[in-house]
Amino acid sequence: MKNITVIGAGTMGNGIAHVFAHNGYHVQLYDINEAALEKALVTVSKNMDRQIAKDKLTTQEKEAALGRLQTGTNLKQALASANLVVEAATENKALKFKIFKELDEWAPADCILASNTSSISITEIAAQTKRPDKVIGMHFMNPVPVMKLVEIIRGYSTSDQVCAQIIEVSASLQKIPVACNDYPGFVANRILMPMINEAIISLHEGVAGVQEIDAIMKLGMAHPMGPLQLADFIGLDVCLSILNVLHDGLGNPKYAPCPLLVNMVNAGKLGVKSKEGFYDYSNGVKEAPISSQFK
Ligand code: NAD
Repeated sequence: MKNITVIGAGTMGNGIAHVFAHNGYHVQLYDINEAALEKALVTVSKNMDRQIAKDKLTTQEKEAALGRLQTGTNLKQALASANLVVEAATENKALKFKIFKELDEWAPADCILASNTSSISITEIAAQTKRPDKVIGMHFMNPVPVMKLVEIIRGYSTSDQVCAQIIEVSASLQKIPVACNDYPGFVANRILMPMINEAIISLHEGVAGVQEIDAIMKLGMAHPMGPLQLADFIGLDVCLSILNVLHDGLGNPKYAPCPLLVNMVNAGKLGVKSKEGFYDYSNGVKEAPISSQFK
């Protein structure tokens, strides 16, 4: 397996392209948006410079890796010689269904089709194709060049052979693959999102303030950041959409998103990406917001 096509050049796509190129694969990074591709190349180069500063990469290795990374907006061309596709486009079910139909039509018959989705059913995505045995979840964590885990999700029809191949590929990226079955939220988000939701409910009910909740969880549980800061980092819209998937898919009221989270998303307060969430990022650093909603 040598040729990898990454679909979507956003936050996750550029990181996925980075780790594959760094580890010797030839990467075609595809997006419908030319500006996203240009931005992705700048981000990859900047993140590789960080690795150079930490002695995790040499300048020559960076040049070689960038030489293996090509970008383009022509899907057929990007898929022509792909052994593996990793889809990391926007988290939207209808969009992913459409993309997988196209991948199935244009990718070589033996090509494995993986999705980096946070929450959409791999089994449903696979059902859009004529090769459901070759469809699998490859859930990288953000930031991809730093985080070790790849959560491997076996859809209902994913073959053992494809699962073994993807575990091997993930290990070749110096990652640690861990496999699970395809149920709503898989493992990572099924456990993480209720914790984040509970932190928001605690804030909403006035149990404690933003900084107190985060400090208690950070210091008490040895988490690198508190759940409210983490929610800002992930994106509050993303958190809401995953909670909705858990709520709809598992039918248990314990997954119902906190009304404060719903209100914040409706108000466009999405966390770091909109410069305001539970914290204020308008000055480029994390500062406590003054919000009457948090009292
Ligand atoms: P993003 O919004 O940063 O990037 C999405 C990219 O997809 C954009 O560049 C957009 O132009 C592109 N795109 C849209 N339609 C497309 C199409 N038809 N073909 C090709 N590209 C298209 O999103 P992201 O945060 O990188 O998330 C991507 C995927 O990764 C989602 O499925 C998300 O659930 C998952 N994910 C995200 C995180 C995270 O922390 N952000 C973590 C794990 C998994």
